[in-house]
Amino acid sequence: MQTLQDLAQAFRLYAVCDPCARVALIDLNQLMAREGPEYPLERVRMRLKCTACQRRTHALRVVYVGPQGRASGFRYARETAHPKTADPS
Ligand SMILES: [Zn+2]
Repeated sequence: MQTLQDLAQAFRLYAVCDPCARVALIDLNQLMAREGPEYPLERVRMRLKCTACQRRTHALRVVYVGPQGRASGFRYARETAHPKTADPS
């Protein structure tokens, strides 16, 4: 079973809510600090809850970024409120 520390090496983890089309980056370091590096990914998945619709989505997206992933230097704020694209109206 995969654990947080397995992923922290080279992956980014996103929570996904299909009904809302929301994708939120999960802070692996923060999660490891709280739950420990051996915390299983499956339990993270079961705990996910969309902050917009309150559904338990149970959906994760795991993105490989490589061991130098930090170098890509792109980061979400903790609470990215609805990132609307420009409305042409
Ligand atoms: Zn949702």
